[in-house]
Amino acid sequence: MMSTRRKALKTLTAIPFVGGIFGPSILAAKAAEETVAKSALPVSGAVARDFFKELGLRTFINAAGTYTSMTGSLMHKEVTDAISYGATEYVNLDELHDKVGERIAELLDCEYATVSSGAFGAMTIGLAGVMCGMDEKKVAQLPDTKGLKNEVIVQKAHAIGYTHALINTGAKIVEIETAKELEKAINDNTAMLWFLNANTDQGQIKYEEFVALGKKHNVPTFIDCAADVPPVENLFKFTKLGFDLVCFSGGKGIRGPQSAGLLLGKRKYIEAARLHTPPRGATIARGMKVNKEEVLGMMVALELYLARDHKKEWELWEDQIKLISDSAASVKGVETEIHVPPHANHVPSLYIRWDEKVVGISTDEMRKRLRDGHPSIETVGNKEQVGITTWMMEPGQERIVAQRVKEVLESA
Ligand SMILES: *Cc1c(COP(=O)(O)O)cnc(C)c1O
Repeated sequence: MMSTRRKALKTLTAIPFVGGIFGPSILAAKAAEETVAKSALPVSGAVARDFFKELGLRTFINAAGTYTSMTGSLMHKEVTDAISYGATEYVNLDELHDKVGERIAELLDCEYATVSSGAFGAMTIGLAGVMCGMDEKKVAQLPDTKGLKNEVIVQKAHAIGYTHALINTGAKIVEIETAKELEKAINDNTAMLWFLNANTDQGQIKYEEFVALGKKHNVPTFIDCAADVPPVENLFKFTKLGFDLVCFSGGKGIRGPQSAGLLLGKRKYIEAARLHTPPRGATIARGMKVNKEEVLGMMVALELYLARDHKKEWELWEDQIKLISDSAASVKGVETEIHVPPHANHVPSLYIRWDEKVVGISTDEMRKRLRDGHPSIETVGNKEQVGITTWMMEPGQERIVAQRVKEVLESA
């Protein structure tokens, strides 16, 4: 069932890599593209439909990371099998959520869990659960917060766009910077304290103190860990640290369905959060449905992720990044830096920088040429540098990226 294009790429990546010379594989890449072009002629019944091609969309090698705009991550076959399986039978949605919630809680050694519509959805329903508890009148009342605690305290450095998931409930954000300010900000309307793990280093208050402040004032704490696996330990760490609620994206490092996520933590809040979700209708989260297929897909993706050899996977990423780094740095005037972001997207990553006067190309133009080339390659970057990660690539694609990066920089 593999598309011709993927077959071609597979063949291409199987070509032995000889002595650091990238020449042969680019020829193979071009040949592969041509094969793809020829085989695009309709052969009724003989080939599976190539939907992206049909729609006139170009697929690409993801050298960027888990970006929603690039459709996040790819699911393993066990996950898509679970999704296909889910599509074959009816089941009671609440009962499915009950069972899968228990299974995930057991796997992650926390009190309770639910599959949410992404980390974003987890934040909305988690806060809604905290605000309304098990009171169905309050559930129906949102986003009108009259008579409810409706303030969420957030460190200023953490108040980036994702807080919109919180104000979806009708709540408002109260920004503070110091622990002292946080304590002063707490009042009878304080519903929750919210922490953004990705910006841990930018905020003055760290995890332990944040959790302690919540406990001291009897206010629940929530941490957004959307992009924070790897390391796998993070799936356990923050519930153990005492955060009442923790969320992860399903379709980032865990490689589950892109529109699924995990809400972990205290049973009383997660049971309350579920009152806002389908099948219940008159709620703010009716549109944040997770279908049975994705509930199963999320569960299986998590099982697979936990069972993976994380050390081996890390070593593979390190080798891949080094290959691309060496290839880029072999071009005169080009410098590379291998780094690992401490929080969020914590994987071996590469910066490529160069003297524009020597190399003769801007970072934007470089990224455009990679995107427009064959095969198309997506990277991240700004005026100063091009950024690359390999964790969202299919094995072998790092060689194509290494060679294309060098080729584009050399030919500039
Ligand atoms: C990706 C991300 C989200 C949104 O996660 P989804 O699973 O796409 O809903 C929220 N917060 C942070 C910090 C993220 O990186």
